[in-house]
Amino acid sequence: MKTGINHLFIPGPTNVPESVRQAMNVPMQDMRAPDFGDLTLGLFRDLKKVLRTQTGEVLLFPGSGTGAWEAAMANTLNPGDTVLMSRFGQFSTLWVEMAKNLGLNVICVDVPWGGGVPVSEYARILGDDREGKIKGVFVTHNETATGVTSSVAEVRRVMDECFHDALLYVDGVSSVGCIDFRMEDWGVDLAVTGSQKGLMLPAGLGILGVSQKAIAASKTATMRRSYFDIGAQLAMNATGYFPYTPPTQLLHGLRSALNRLLGEGLENVASRHHRIAEGVRRGVAALGLSLCAEHRSLYSDTVSAIRTPEGVDAREVIKIAYARYNASFGSGLAQLSGKVFRIGHLGDLNEGMMISALGIAEMCLAEAGARVEFGAGVGAALSFYTEGRLARQPTSVAAR
Ligand SMILES: *Cc1c(COP(=O)(O)O)cnc(C)c1O
Repeated sequence: MKTGINHLFIPGPTNVPESVRQAMNVPMQDMRAPDFGDLTLGLFRDLKKVLRTQTGEVLLFPGSGTGAWEAAMANTLNPGDTVLMSRFGQFSTLWVEMAKNLGLNVICVDVPWGGGVPVSEYARILGDDREGKIKGVFVTHNETATGVTSSVAEVRRVMDECFHDALLYVDGVSSVGCIDFRMEDWGVDLAVTGSQKGLMLPAGLGILGVSQKAIAASKTATMRRSYFDIGAQLAMNATGYFPYTPPTQLLHGLRSALNRLLGEGLENVASRHHRIAEGVRRGVAALGLSLCAEHRSLYSDTVSAIRTPEGVDAREVIKIAYARYNASFGSGLAQLSGKVFRIGHLGDLNEGMMISALGIAEMCLAEAGARVEFGAGVGAALSFYTEGRLARQPTSVAAR
């Protein structure tokens, strides 16, 4: 019998705030009612704010992030088109596989896992592409498997420097709504996300931001698509409707989640994620453990993939956490299986939750055979979270 709450420390699905959960508890409604647009038009407007696009459009598909990956490609490319992609973790790898499955000719740059998008290699390849054979450039903004955030701005810069006209596709599934994401400034043409990560909702929505350039490309793109066709969807969305039955409960949840994000302010949301993440990183370092991300400049503010010491199976750590402490850590995916466990620090979180995560991780690491100085990780996080907030002359707790 498990008691207490289940600690959900995975990088998605993330914790759904109680207010968002309550907002979804509504009766079914007529999705063709004359006032349905009162709900949906505001969602499109506010999702544009979250993606930071003024000129683009946002589409919502019942599905998940993976569906939005497919919608991005199927709407804007032709079978056999050449695209530039890179693999440096499980999600970027899966996107490459999907591109191949859809019949695209993928130029794939492999980077050891823990690295980020290979900007200079992209620059070289794009610079050599004088005839503009490459139609799409792909970036996994936040590689959730390794805890690496790449610079989309840098990729845009190299595209601009060689006057390359390819469309820019960005997977923002574990970054949008958490860390800085600028569709307009970075010239992102296709921005992919889903509902169950930074947006703090259950899984069920694939979300796709499209630039005007992407919309123009969709008018001539010949890849087969039907359900995911953005033409029909955009036409219906313009008046607040959908060409199929939308998941209205999720839309009400999205309304509530967007209110929270915009109410907090996107800058504040990003700095909160940074602060929460930094506390976790301090804790990990104090335990003598290292992150999968190979350089500080790549550290993700939404997920940390933590390497277990030599001889300690990360799967054991995760198993113990779930069985004994009712806590879920993210597992090591594919080649990282057994080597890392992940702490998701995105969405509806606070410092206390991360102190729990670190404390539980310490117990599980020790029980799985690691040498752990109890409290070291927790202590480092406590120090970081209280930095600059302590009284000058502390009163001894015992003296009172
Ligand atoms: C979760 C995730 C996906 C897959 O999204 P689903 O909603 O599970 O289909 C894709 N990319 C990244 C970076 C992710 O974190």
